[in-house]
Amino acid sequence: MLSCRLLGHRYRFRAEGATMSWTCERGCGAGGAKEYTSAEEASRYAGAFDREDRAELGRRAPLLGMFPLRLWWMLRGKRR
Ligand SMILES: [Zn+2]
Repeated sequence: MLSCRLLGHRYRFRAEGATMSWTCERGCGAGGAKEYTSAEEASRYAGAFDREDRAELGRRAPLLGMFPLRLWWMLRGKRR
């Protein structure tokens, strides 16, 4: 999946009993699972990781948006 290579996997975390599992939202097959001691702990971690991952995506998006502009400035500067 090209977007996974460029942007990283888009993981979604969820808890099933005491197991927390995560899979890539784009369906590339990446993912994993982790056992916790209780269902409560698993759901707490799943919720925290899910939020963290979304915040991370928000931080990365503006940088990617700036890239074509920076490239344009670079090319423009070279011509002078
Ligand atoms: Zn992926």
